[in-house]
Amino acid sequence: MKSNYSDRYFLVLYFHHYLVDSVKGYFVQENNEHIEIHRQLIEFDGDLVENENTEIQLSIPKEEFSEESTLRLFCLHEPKRSGGFDGRMRFLQSSIITEAEFNSILESEDNRKDMIREKAKGNRNAVIDLLEKQGYNPIPSDANEFVWTAGCKFHQGKHLMFIDTRTNICSCPYGGKREKLGE
Ligand SMILES: [Zn+2]
Repeated sequence: MKSNYSDRYFLVLYFHHYLVDSVKGYFVQENNEHIEIHRQLIEFDGDLVENENTEIQLSIPKEEFSEESTLRLFCLHEPKRSGGFDGRMRFLQSSIITEAEFNSILESEDNRKDMIREKAKGNRNAVIDLLEKQGYNPIPSDANEFVWTAGCKFHQGKHLMFIDTRTNICSCPYGGKREKLGE
């Protein structure tokens, strides 16, 4: 990880993923009458990446764009996506927001998810107990207070499935298999 990244990026984040860590930079680009925000991979598992394709994050008409509101709002919203597909985020540098601002949002998001998990724990029921006994290792989700996740019973626990404790329906996100447990 470098200590300084190009001024071209208004935000640079570190992503901690259990498989691979990466550094990604966000920059602004004009496209006809639109302003686009792009995200580009800068480092992958500690190595610099050259000429990596960019992923477009946002495109808005030029007249609606302002650095103060658009970029600031974007930067303050981004930490809410931490912990998703790309892994957990860490602030590296920004010309728009401070590290303290970023961390305070990350922290309130963590607290929000903890509260949801606590509520989900309270909704534990006999089906969750059954899945635990069967070795599917159910855990409360941070999606909402009624949903738990566990190893997928349709696919030998190879990935996660969801259990809704209100209906006791287990569903696999891959292929849409569903089954109501209990009764
Ligand atoms: Zn499955």
